[in-house]
Amino acid sequence: MRVPVLTYHANNISGNDYASNDHVALAEDLRLIQRRGLRVVPLARVVDVLLGEAPESTVERSVALSFDDGSWFDWHDLDHPTCGPQRAFAGILRDFAAETAAPVHATSFVIVSPDARATLDLTCLAGRSWWGDDWWRAAQDEGLLAIESHSWDHNHHTLPVTAQHEQRKGTFRTIDCHADADAEIRQAADWLDARLAPHRASLFAYPYGETNAYLTEEYLPRHVSEHRVRAAFGTEPAPVHAAAARWNLPRCVAGQHWRTPDELARLLDALVR
Ligand SMILES: [Zn+2]
Repeated sequence: MRVPVLTYHANNISGNDYASNDHVALAEDLRLIQRRGLRVVPLARVVDVLLGEAPESTVERSVALSFDDGSWFDWHDLDHPTCGPQRAFAGILRDFAAETAAPVHATSFVIVSPDARATLDLTCLAGRSWWGDDWWRAAQDEGLLAIESHSWDHNHHTLPVTAQHEQRKGTFRTIDCHADADAEIRQAADWLDARLAPHRASLFAYPYGETNAYLTEEYLPRHVSEHRVRAAFGTEPAPVHAAAARWNLPRCVAGQHWRTPDELARLLDALVR
């Protein structure tokens, strides 16, 4: 298996062209993916194949999509204060499915803590209460977006207090003891499972794409019964393949690993082969 996982940030809106707006990029990339004879599969299926729980043929010539941070721009069409009306990621997926009849699916890695999202709405968005979780149940039920964990509070530097016990924020590398990992990872899974049952959160995407040896070699592999995570994703630009590291799986990030449709085309050709 060689499955690229493409990652988009719905909050990345600083203009209305491909390079400055992940919504424009996603809409264009879906068509590019199809033109190259690739199909979109759910990220959980890629993990199933990796763990030997589904046949490799179910992810042949495919890509998976993931969205990070989980604001309203994933789900609600919104009028951006400076860039105008924006089609939500969910609407872009539905538009593409309606137009092509191709299957679409994405995984939204959401920041779980309601308090953290309320503050991030002020510090990173427009302060219009656009980071609520009202849509998670509907997204999960429709089967269009899976809701998975991007940690409790992202250990984000703009939060007054985070789960990191020494308040070393702005990185996920400092989540390096059981108490901090439990607060960032297990607590987030508990919250999601309590609200989205029967769905069980089982995938994790590292904030900032950053991890450390404690998480990949100790906490995640040895405490599965506590956190219930099946696989964790970083941001190395490579495909998920049979020998990929389960606790730091690769993902390619829009705006970081490719900036134009041509760059994505070259990246896909190199990764899928
Ligand atoms: Zn993030």
